[in-house]
Amino acid sequence: MPAYSRVLLKLSGESLAGDKGFGVDAAALAGIAADIAAAAATGVAVGVVIGGGNLFRGAEGEALAMQRAQADGVGMLATCMNGVFLRAALLQAGCGARMFSALPLGDLGGACRPYARQQALDCLAAGEVAVFAGGTGLPYFTTDTAAALRAAEMGCDALFKATKVDGVYAADPNAPDGGGQRYDHISYAEALARGLRFMDATALALARETAMPILLFSFGAGNLGKILQGGGVCTRIDAQGASAAK
Ligand code: UDP
Repeated sequence: MPAYSRVLLKLSGESLAGDKGFGVDAAALAGIAADIAAAAATGVAVGVVIGGGNLFRGAEGEALAMQRAQADGVGMLATCMNGVFLRAALLQAGCGARMFSALPLGDLGGACRPYARQQALDCLAAGEVAVFAGGTGLPYFTTDTAAALRAAEMGCDALFKATKVDGVYAADPNAPDGGGQRYDHISYAEALARGLRFMDATALALARETAMPILLFSFGAGNLGKILQGGGVCTRIDAQGASAAK
């Protein structure tokens, strides 16, 4: 019996790039789709907010002398490209999926529809994965914030943030001296006060506001399935977090 019945999974664009670090890697994409399909097959309703960092981030616009709002527009387009890829890979994996874009786009050959909350709720109720692209549809935001927003709108039990690391650390886990203390459980307030960088502050504040627990874990090795069953290695961020560390 899964421990969660409805979750919002935030996937960074980077996760689609595999070891290449850029673009979309067919094997990485297929692996992710297989994990999501397996989760959906257990009866868990899954929404996915997909990032775009494997293709373009708004911050890269500075080097191109672009205005922030326009560079962010390109970043949102990148998330839409990933959304089309992810939906196709989910269908390939035998899993029903619809893509909803917060950014006005054409229907891209039947792949994409405009985001409409009720339609997305209907999609989840029908047992199909809802792929949310285009972030919030607004510049100056990130797909982390879009994930906190959709998790609340979809009435999810939790926001699952899949990353390259296995939890929240007191410092950058990729730094040469390691990440220091690792938290198993931490409160929104402490994470905000300590300025921990696992998620942007806007997203974290919205999760706190909506009392949405966040589970941060490293994708792959069947972790999604384990965490859905209530196990696996992750950091939980919620109102009660006790800053217990290993
Ligand atoms: N973006 C935006 N508004 C949003 C979500 C995303 O403007 O609501 C833009 C922003 O430029 C961001 C880019 O889209 O850098 C890609 O999203 P993000 O960096 O969150 O992707 P990830 O790091 O998760 O792959």
